[in-house]
Amino acid sequence: MTTTEHAPRLTALDRCDRCGARAYYRATLMSGELLFCGHHGRAALVSLKGQALRIDDFTAELAADASSNLNAQEGQGRSAH
Ligand SMILES: [Zn+2]
Repeated sequence: MTTTEHAPRLTALDRCDRCGARAYYRATLMSGELLFCGHHGRAALVSLKGQALRIDDFTAELAADASSNLNAQEGQGRSAH
């Protein structure tokens, strides 16, 4: 079993347990981890707060990821700014 002192960031491969969208919340429980998208995270964390050992909120990365994805797609040496 691995211990994660510094929990790794979520990536595009991390998916919401409820709907399969990209996860932006991670709740660590006694029984394991749950991942949630922004929508389900906000709803689920209210009820999970009592039992979660730890809750990581990565919603702040939503905007940054969206813009970096755009840059990656349009990219190719073109300077947007
Ligand atoms: Zn979801």
